Amino acid sequence: MAYRAPVDDILFTLKTVVREPRLGEGIYTHLDEATVRAVVEEAGRFASEVLAPLNHKGDRTASRLEGGRVVTPPGWKEAYDAFVAAGWAALLAPEDYGGQALPEIVGSAVSEIWNAANLAFGLCPLLTQSAIHALQVDGSDELKALYLPRMVSGQWTGTMNLTEPQAGSDLGALTTRALPAGDGTYRLFGTKIFITYGEHELTENIVHMVLARLPDAPPGTRGISLFLVPKRLVGPDGAPGARNDVVCAGLEHKLGIHASPTCVMRYGEQDGAVGYLVGREHHGLRTMFIMMNAARLAVGVQGVALAERATQHAMAYAMERRQGRTHANKDGAMSRIAEHPDVRRMLATMRATTMAARAICLATAHALDRSHLEADHDTRRDAAHLAALLTPVAKAYATDVACEAASLGIQVHGGMGFVEETGAAQFYRDARILPIYEGTNGIQAIDLVTRKLPLEEGEVATRYIGELAATAAEVGAANHAAFGLMGERLAAAVDALRDATRWMQRALAEHHEDALAGATPYLRLFGLAAGGVYLARGALACVSEGAADSPQVALARFFAEQIAVAAPGLATAVTSGGAALFSIEPERLCT
Ligand SMILES: Cc1cc2nc3c(=O)[nH]c(=O)nc-3n(C[C@H](O)[C@H](O)[C@H](O)COP(=O)(O)OP(=O)(O)OC[C@H]3O[C@@H](n4cnc5c(N)ncnc54)[C@H](O)[C@@H]3O)c2cc1C
Repeated sequence: MAYRAPVDDILFTLKTVVREPRLGEGIYTHLDEATVRAVVEEAGRFASEVLAPLNHKGDRTASRLEGGRVVTPPGWKEAYDAFVAAGWAALLAPEDYGGQALPEIVGSAVSEIWNAANLAFGLCPLLTQSAIHALQVDGSDELKALYLPRMVSGQWTGTMNLTEPQAGSDLGALTTRALPAGDGTYRLFGTKIFITYGEHELTENIVHMVLARLPDAPPGTRGISLFLVPKRLVGPDGAPGARNDVVCAGLEHKLGIHASPTCVMRYGEQDGAVGYLVGREHHGLRTMFIMMNAARLAVGVQGVALAERATQHAMAYAMERRQGRTHANKDGAMSRIAEHPDVRRMLATMRATTMAARAICLATAHALDRSHLEADHDTRRDAAHLAALLTPVAKAYATDVACEAASLGIQVHGGMGFVEETGAAQFYRDARILPIYEGTNGIQAIDLVTRKLPLEEGEVATRYIGELAATAAEVGAANHAAFGLMGERLAAAVDALRDATRWMQRALAEHHEDALAGATPYLRLFGLAAGGVYLARGALACVSEGAADSPQVALARFFAEQIAVAAPGLATAVTSGGAALFSIEPERLCT
């Protein structure tokens, strides 16, 4: 089934979450709805015509390593060149370096489209964007002038090199060494694993952002520095020359995203890989975190993308496949499976959760835009705090939704979902990485609870929950027949979030382990309440425009009545504390 970019859904969600200022106003003065639509439509055309047709083939062929060279699947290089030629690589980057400086809301919308069409391809520009971000934030003027224009144009790609065999979630354990060379440069020695697009021949050069330790580094995360290490050493004129001392020593064989090369990278097998410090010595993790926050939202958007793709695929199948007869159709021809209540439930769940995840991600992108672009300092600070609060929710909720939607997609296909030729299985396999990389979803939940809830002594979360409650009350007061029990159910979900948040804030001070035990159900609860409210805002907008019978209203109601109703149960799980969990020693689970 061909991919169709959900242009209207994306625009609808943008209008719902971008409320202050609206498109075409304030920080978005030069970005009215027509402009956004034009960009999103054009991206949709490119994705459908160039990227989507390679998705299944890339899965079958996979990238492979031949004599130290990574060979990407047929068509990959041509698609990358077309992507760069069309200017897509430069969308978000600053104008000073040749970018188009479009805001995050557009970047997220377009990124959803690349990743829905072809997740394994979408990772390459995603990682490059992260590397650009790190360099932009903390690179020296010299490094920026030499590298940024080429990375922004897409002439060179970028990578993030954090993970080592003994240092995954815990980056404080990393051991890659950086020795000062005495001329302002450094020599790096060590092994990184799982490096996405660490080696390939799509471009003439690759710019690695590498975390490493200096000889006098304090232990743990406070002793980590960030280095730029090019695959080919770059002359003052920007021309790539000799190979640097960095090689790809292997490719991982993976469950999914087969076309994306996941590389073992060896630095310094000879004299050391030449590296350049980015930011200050021992402060690399701070820069990396700035970049990782943007990347976490980008991975959340990948979740939306996969959920959307799986939903489109399942919808198409369910509208064609005929089995049995519905209650209302006892004697006629076999019914389309989409008409059976259980299949309809699966499809509605996929569609509604995808929409909720998209809204959370775009709301996070909007908060990020405000944090960068608003004129007033306090407004920027408040927006930055909101973006910080929502980022782990965007990453974890949206990527969990992707896995659930892809699994339901297989279920909708029945046995045909389990065999590879329908393509539903690939979405399931591809989606499974999303809750793992860029900080596992367990780590996101801990981040939400331990770092984000305490922001401004809890005020950021309290303010946000107050806004959710106001929408729930508005839905209740509207009392529109099309809303069913939406107001009541959302009010219960938001109350559950408020209670669990207060409990978490106390537990953080008094019983830290209890807070950690409840972090994952708490994040889910947060996603349900927030997602339900964003959908309800869309429903309110439809009703005020006289479109109460639109699918957005029905799906918002479905989400509130059938999905967000899990919120009070999750709050009970959170506020019960960790006693039940801590009564189970891991050893007792091994028997
Ligand atoms: C396909 C792929 C692409 C990747 N791309 C990149 C890349 O480009 N660059 C890069 O640097 N890395 C990359 N990674 C690495 C990825 O970010 C890590 O796999 C991820 O951070 C988890 O680390 P880990 O695999 O060591 O798991 P571990 O850290 O060993 O975690 C295992 C489990 O324990 C849990 N856990 C660990 N610590 C805690 C804790 N303190 N509290 C609670 N639970 C905990 C985790 O949530 C997880 O469930 C990639 C990985 C894959 C598979």
